[in-house]
Amino acid sequence: MASIKFLGAAGTVTGSRFLVTSNSGQRILIDCGLFQGLKNLRLKNWSSFPVDPREINAVILSHAHVDHSGYLPKLVKERFDGYIYSTSATKAQAEILLYDSAHLKQEEADYANKKKFSKHEPAIPLYTDEDVRQTMLKFRTHKYKEIFHVGDFTIKFSNAGHILGACSVLVEVDHKKILFSGDIGRVDDQILFDPAPAPDADILVLESTYGNRLHPKTNPIEAFKDLIRKAIEDKSVILIPSFAVGRAQSILYCINQVFEQYPDLRLPAYLNSPMAKSVTALYEHFVSELKLSSLECNKVCHTAKIIQSVEESIELNKQSGPMIIISASGMLAGGRVLHHLKNFGKDPNNIIVFAGFQAEGTRGATLLRGERLIKIHGYYHEIQAQIMNFDFFSAHADQEELINWVKTMQTPPKQVYLVHGEPLAADTLRLKLQENLGLNVYVPLDQEERQI
Ligand SMILES: [Zn+2]
Repeated sequence: MASIKFLGAAGTVTGSRFLVTSNSGQRILIDCGLFQGLKNLRLKNWSSFPVDPREINAVILSHAHVDHSGYLPKLVKERFDGYIYSTSATKAQAEILLYDSAHLKQEEADYANKKKFSKHEPAIPLYTDEDVRQTMLKFRTHKYKEIFHVGDFTIKFSNAGHILGACSVLVEVDHKKILFSGDIGRVDDQILFDPAPAPDADILVLESTYGNRLHPKTNPIEAFKDLIRKAIEDKSVILIPSFAVGRAQSILYCINQVFEQYPDLRLPAYLNSPMAKSVTALYEHFVSELKLSSLECNKVCHTAKIIQSVEESIELNKQSGPMIIISASGMLAGGRVLHHLKNFGKDPNNIIVFAGFQAEGTRGATLLRGERLIKIHGYYHEIQAQIMNFDFFSAHADQEELINWVKTMQTPPKQVYLVHGEPLAADTLRLKLQENLGLNVYVPLDQEERQI
């Protein structure tokens, strides 16, 4: 019997992996993400994949974020031998993100070996550059709305408006249609086009990241204007942990708008990310998929000075405010931002601004909860900087936007599965969809398999 098996992002936000099996036993995997956040989740990245990767015919990738793509090199290392299908913008971003992920994993292993704080002896990375190189050879790209076939499966992408190239994936198999929402973006984003209407399907697998909340209707440019004015008055360093791909560009757009509209509020801005240069080139390359003109895109990409070398990054820690530093990773899980957090976080005059979802168990979530003692590179540091949450600034639809997106289906789905949400978020959305739209909604458990 045809089935869907939930191999991740069930009862949690990260590790998106959904296995679809056809009547004849062919298998495709929708997304192949890393688990992030709580240690028990991260440890799952190290357990053997629940299905033999050699028995998976293909992977379909909704978008490039590592909680959707970051396990691919490990799958390839474990001898997955099919193709990986995505949009070309997703492929281009995945290439940047996966090499970066391999570097981060290598750096973590090296650092753990140097400081001897790993329980593994010696610490080894989850995958290497070479695994990423092999992974990239397997990509095949398709445009939005283009129909293509993979064995028993017919597949179509539609724009999800979440990051550049992000899509929802419609899979038709054995006369059933299953729509995987992927991550759904916002309506009226400054850079990205709105999510396309949801195509009709029998089964909807829907994300629920913000299933229990509504984003404030704050104007992001106004919020950045006030923040920058305060930083100039107080000579503060504004540290913004950010995904290097997607979120960083939205932040740069807002800062650029403030600089253009209020020239007296110009202050030094830095984008400290080894990936920044390639990402800039990428945004300019895919400008036709953005709301920006080439000129606007160019301006946005040059709003901040790009810090590339480690030496420049260390040098930045010696500078004083007012200035803005945007640096990855977005949830303070790793990356160069941690060095800035150690350095600038101890000063109560500085400001740490969160501008994206913070998964449970990450340093970002801990700080937002009000805890101040943060473990970085094996040692505890007291963070005294002011914490601000720009929670209006999200790449994910909120409860209302998710419900409105479901309503764009002309025929309601017979079954909805809620994934990619913490338990409370998923369950709140379940009730709303049942009560308001009369849908049959279920929150699957990790590793649960449902017939289709
Ligand atoms: Zn995402």
